[in-house]
Amino acid sequence: MIHYRTDSEIELLRKAALLVGKTLGEVGKHIRPGIRTIELDKIAEEFIRDHGAIPAFKGYEGFPGSLCISVNDAVVHGIPGNYELRDGDIVSVDCGTILDGYVGDSAYTFTVGEVSEEIKLFLQRSKESLYKGIEQAVSGNRIGDIGYAIQSYVEQFGYGVVRELVGHGVGRKMHEDPQVPNYGKRGTGTKLSEGIVIAIEPMITFGKNDIIQERDGWTIKTKDRKPAAHFEHDVAVRNGKAEILSSFEWIEGNQ
Ligand code: MG
Ligand code: MG
Repeated sequence: MIHYRTDSEIELLRKAALLVGKTLGEVGKHIRPGIRTIELDKIAEEFIRDHGAIPAFKGYEGFPGSLCISVNDAVVHGIPGNYELRDGDIVSVDCGTILDGYVGDSAYTFTVGEVSEEIKLFLQRSKESLYKGIEQAVSGNRIGDIGYAIQSYVEQFGYGVVRELVGHGVGRKMHEDPQVPNYGKRGTGTKLSEGIVIAIEPMITFGKNDIIQERDGWTIKTKDRKPAAHFEHDVAVRNGKAEILSSFEWIEGNQ
């Protein structure tokens, strides 16, 4: 069932989403070679709780962290732990908050120290694919238009789009209808209309798009062990247009 949100609900969703953006900005300040991913998780959890919110991921289906931290060939759902970030790593940080009963959910892939030019380009293009998808989130378009835009943009560079994991509606629950695949055909799927709020989250692979799940039961990795990127925004269809509720300004202001 798809929920159509009122203006006041969208404002609450924006507050939760902006807190995610601020949390990711705070985490980003601490990303450097030598820091353990569990330390980043602690920083995020404290920051979220200090702002009167609950980390949405903590305990979600038993997930132990407040962040999903996925390094290099990990695509998504990495568990924070003792791994120390290294120069040249890329690290995807996915964060969720529940503030006043509404969920924010956003993700960003950071660089650690110096990364190669081809990886920088890969990250730029993966992020750009998110905005290509968002451009399509307007009244009258369909879910397939979003996936088509993301897929056709990244595949021209030889990158892959993960199929098994998708974006989603976001509201009082983290995962609501509709599903929002990062691939698809134009003009197919659910029609977008006023008040729909979705998390658009391309998961892009540098090599092939096949994935495997680690024995920890959570971490999703690329089968070919090549890097993957993940960028996510919460987007409301409002006044016929795509309105981004989350923000990377706290991340990119200090990178
Ligand atoms: Mg997320
Ligand atoms: Mg999500």
